[in-house]
Amino acid sequence: MRYGIFSDIHGNLEAFEAVLSGLANEAIDAYLCVGDIVGYGANPGECIGRVLDLRAVSIAGNHEYGVLGKIDLAYFNPHAADAIVWTQNHLDRGRQDFLKTLPLDFKNEDLIMVHGTLQKPGMFIYLITFSEAAETFKLMTRKVCFVGHTHVPVIIQEQDFNIHRAKSFSITMEPQCKYIINVGSVGQPRDRNPKAAYCIYDTDLNTVDIKRVSYPIEEAQAKIRNAGLPESLATRLAEGW
Ligand code: ZN
Repeated sequence: MRYGIFSDIHGNLEAFEAVLSGLANEAIDAYLCVGDIVGYGANPGECIGRVLDLRAVSIAGNHEYGVLGKIDLAYFNPHAADAIVWTQNHLDRGRQDFLKTLPLDFKNEDLIMVHGTLQKPGMFIYLITFSEAAETFKLMTRKVCFVGHTHVPVIIQEQDFNIHRAKSFSITMEPQCKYIINVGSVGQPRDRNPKAAYCIYDTDLNTVDIKRVSYPIEEAQAKIRNAGLPESLATRLAEGW
């Protein structure tokens, strides 16, 4: 089985289409979306449409919860909150109804996925430290857990309670280890690399590859500006921050 996995699309259709072009050549059997399809970018409805076309299994991120009114806007920084209100006003009823169907986590025979951490998925905790990773490793009933939310790709490996970061974004998994994989962000990378991120997980080869692809950033920026969304949401795309 080959999974194509992406997260934090954030309404950036140009970035998402570049990712989908990259995945089109990868003999993908199933697509997974780790949350935050909407928020920040100017094409939330179109991005949801692509997710539906792919029949991607999707979970909810904090921006879906914000748009649905399940999280108070005070939780978000002012620019994110502005974008959530904009998204509420520009997403049709059908798309909003789709967001309501998204669960907080997903599990099948191969993997688990959650936007933040397995401890309290609805709290959308940022998985950054090894102690936060340890909590999620404890709760993992599968070898691998895919996460998003930080917009920073990372592969964290655990064996006998020893945790470390993998040195590569392209690994063959060891049989005795468990893995937390942050697949990075399609639509708003924050690791100083502006290229869109996505991941391929091959269960036959036991490999995980996090890849990057460039996309027409200026087009996504122009849409953000024309929509009247906060200027910083446009400028940060070019900085990858
Ligand atoms: Zn996000």
